[in-house]
Amino acid sequence: MYKNSESYEKRGLIVVSAPSGAGKSTLCTRLLKELPERLSLSISSTSRAPRGAEKEGQEYFFISPELFLNKIKQNEFAEWAQVHGNYYGTQKKTLETFWKNKKNVLLDIDVQGADSLRKVYPERCFSIFIAPPSIEVLEQRLRGRGTESEESIQKRMKNAGAELARQNEFDLILVNDVLESTYFNLREAVIKKMDEWERA
Ligand code: 5GP
Repeated sequence: MYKNSESYEKRGLIVVSAPSGAGKSTLCTRLLKELPERLSLSISSTSRAPRGAEKEGQEYFFISPELFLNKIKQNEFAEWAQVHGNYYGTQKKTLETFWKNKKNVLLDIDVQGADSLRKVYPERCFSIFIAPPSIEVLEQRLRGRGTESEESIQKRMKNAGAELARQNEFDLILVNDVLESTYFNLREAVIKKMDEWERA
């Protein structure tokens, strides 16, 4: 219904992907804090259990695998994927509500999800890959978090190789060596893209 409204057309998706431990959450959190008028975070649904201090509706909507599969059947997701053995997905209504409210949407999703959204919304998707300086640094950071089991660390390290192999599919690759300069480059690229969408 609101598809023809100007605000709906002039907003887009900033998709950020990275292997676990590359620093994506830190960068995204700061970006959202500094650009609250223009950018909102998409909260995904997942079938994985909450971790540490995670709260329902804050990091994710935590749902059962059965309910997740049901939502896939009902065509409720703009994209969904299985990551580290669990389901994760972005609800279509989340994106549409933000666009309707003149907000661009930041999505912290995996490489499969980024690929799907590029296909579904080719004109309004800007995808950024945050790469670690090396695989060794990635493992160190992951272990340093202290939130993952050994099994989960092994799974995430195995996936990291596959994710790094797909980084060239992204519009922009940022190697997160020095956090401050990575953030500066990220912020600049995101603002430039949002300006472009709004001028279109
Ligand atoms: P975690 O379990 O560490 O929160 O997330 C695991 C991975 O799932 C991360 O790479 C994260 O970006 C990805 N992810 C989170 N939400 C979604 C989503 O809605 N769709 C897809 N495709 N990936 C997601």
